[in-house]
Amino acid sequence: MIARRDDKRAGRPRGDLDTTLAALGGAAPAEALSALIAGGHDRLPWPGGGSTLARWRAFAAVAHRDLSLAKLFEGHCDALAILHELGADALAAGATGAGRAADTPPRWAVWAAEGSDNHVTVVRRDGDAAVLSGRKGWCSGAHDVERALVTCWDGESGPHLACIDLHSPGVDVQDGGWHAVGMAATRSVPVRLYNSPAALVGDAGDYLARAGFWQGGAGIAACWYGGAVALADALHARASRDDAGRHAALGDVDAALHAAAAALREAAAAIDADPSADAMALALRVRRIVEHAATSVLAIAGESLGAPAYCLDARFARTAADLPVFLRQSHGARDAAALGARIADEVPRWRL
Ligand SMILES: Cc1cc2nc3c(=O)[nH]c(=O)nc-3n(C[C@H](O)[C@H](O)[C@H](O)COP(=O)(O)OP(=O)(O)OC[C@H]3O[C@@H](n4cnc5c(N)ncnc54)[C@H](O)[C@@H]3O)c2cc1C
Repeated sequence: MIARRDDKRAGRPRGDLDTTLAALGGAAPAEALSALIAGGHDRLPWPGGGSTLARWRAFAAVAHRDLSLAKLFEGHCDALAILHELGADALAAGATGAGRAADTPPRWAVWAAEGSDNHVTVVRRDGDAAVLSGRKGWCSGAHDVERALVTCWDGESGPHLACIDLHSPGVDVQDGGWHAVGMAATRSVPVRLYNSPAALVGDAGDYLARAGFWQGGAGIAACWYGGAVALADALHARASRDDAGRHAALGDVDAALHAAAAALREAAAAIDADPSADAMALALRVRRIVEHAATSVLAIAGESLGAPAYCLDARFARTAADLPVFLRQSHGARDAAALGARIADEVPRWRL
């Protein structure tokens, strides 16, 4: 049963997001995520609720500061939106478990990678109460979050979505295997489940059937966009009036970012105009546009600013390492092929 969405969220953030981000100082991403949640900044408008662009602006603002934090923040906010869409808001609250104050809201993640190495099965179930076993890879924030939504299979039936508590028996967060240099702080390690208790959320297939699935996928592009703007800002700060060479770089970066921003704004408006529509093509398209823009910005700003930016500017160096890794969440040519296949039998809407 997929709940009707509206834009009403309980509570309001304390203070504005930019101020909170500026006050984070050198906080590690997991700690920074807690601060954003404590400040109520995770109470974003729901996707398709009329203010999708405001939601994406928050992702871009967080990404502008730190892409690993944005990965954790986007995953947390996506989990809350999924629970809302599947009529399970009650699961979003509650005690957080070991070592944290009882009234501290849990940090969430969504782990949905599938494949022979990434397969979780329902061993037993009694209504919505289930016992899960298996392995899930690519679990961003696994060492830091308290709760996660994981996809799982009950025989051939699935994917189901299940809520797990990371402090439950049989949950083993692996230490090794994450050798990423960019996005290192997300520590997206495998998690093994050995007869772990879980609560099933919705029915088989509901997770993928939601319009929110693709709307959420489009939201990730806003994170990539925020990272690209951080690189562009570094270029802008060093483009003096008489530096014609750098002006060419700045012009190309400006054009790429304007195109990406326009695509994000148009996508957000289209989602709000028809929130129950299939957003697959829209999401694949905007993700590809932003991926290409961000790749261009990295190449152009990197070349124009040269080695000092990569080696002496900690912020640029961090973002330039993180962005290409985060962009690999795009599924590359596979997503392009999926978009092409989707529109191949339609009359393309390319006319102005
Ligand atoms: C930093 C980071 C954090 C992540 N965190 C999470 C998380 O928290 N939760 C989660 O669920 N997942 C997460 N993921 C996993 C992510 O969603 C993907 O599952 C993972 O990146 C594997 O991507 P893939 O399926 O494209 O890889 P593969 O299927 O191995 O594809 C690799 C490449 O092969 C090419 N390719 C594959 N198939 C085709 C095709 N049919 N046609 C043309 N080319 C093709 C594409 O270029 C593709 O990029 C994370 C990934 C990254 C990089």
